[in-house]
Amino acid sequence: MNDIQKEFLDILADVRAHLEYQRALGVTSLETGSPEIQTPIMQPAAVTVQKEKHVVAVAAPPVVKEAAKAAASQAGQPMTLEAIREEMGDCTRCKLSGGRSTIVFGEGDSKAAIVFVGEGPGFEEDQQGRPFVGEAGQLLTDIIVKGMRIKREEVYICNIVKCRPPGNRNPEPDEVESCVGFVRKQIHAINPKVIVTLGNVPTQNLLGTKQGITKIRGTWQSYEGIPLMPTFHPAYLLRSPGEKKKVWEDIQKVMGKLGMPVK
Ligand code: URA
Repeated sequence: MNDIQKEFLDILADVRAHLEYQRALGVTSLETGSPEIQTPIMQPAAVTVQKEKHVVAVAAPPVVKEAAKAAASQAGQPMTLEAIREEMGDCTRCKLSGGRSTIVFGEGDSKAAIVFVGEGPGFEEDQQGRPFVGEAGQLLTDIIVKGMRIKREEVYICNIVKCRPPGNRNPEPDEVESCVGFVRKQIHAINPKVIVTLGNVPTQNLLGTKQGITKIRGTWQSYEGIPLMPTFHPAYLLRSPGEKKKVWEDIQKVMGKLGMPVK
């Protein structure tokens, strides 16, 4: 490669870096000076956030087109859960589809006041096609039934990704990117009074934050105007049972918000 070619490649790399920076800021097209010509910036890539020891996939900032679509659907009728499931179909949008036994869409009351959002199915969930039915799921069920004193069927439970990541690893950015639209639509369809996110993956992806769960848990956040309470993932509680008290405090805040009796 001669010097001119090298310089050309350097310039291209600079332009690319600049476009990616603009894209991260939410800019999706370039002004050309002519109103007829709008040059789209390529689709945003998902980014990986390194926080302490946790590497978590975070969906890229939504492009303006997506926001317009969401706003349009918000103005009209939200999709039903059945229609969202139908849209998902026998999904092959990401590489997780290759290793799954079953899509784990979510379950519960379509008019639930509370939506719990986890990370992604584990082994048991993948086998049964139901969210939170393994060991961590039993703990979540206890929190709902024994702690909140309501039936599991009265809430809605789903995950950020609907197919099991191999070895129960965290979902990767491209996997989250392919799937997160569905959980957004599920929440929009249910329109709950409160969302509870379990762990880093749902918290960071729904809120678009890089804050770690240890710092953000127990503090009220907002997802499209819906109060959102981040708390620890039950799988973490299985490893660190001493932290259960904190989750109970967070859940009591949720109960207080919903006017439920806290004993
Ligand atoms: N962990 C999750 O995040 N979701 C499940 O459905 C099960 C375990």
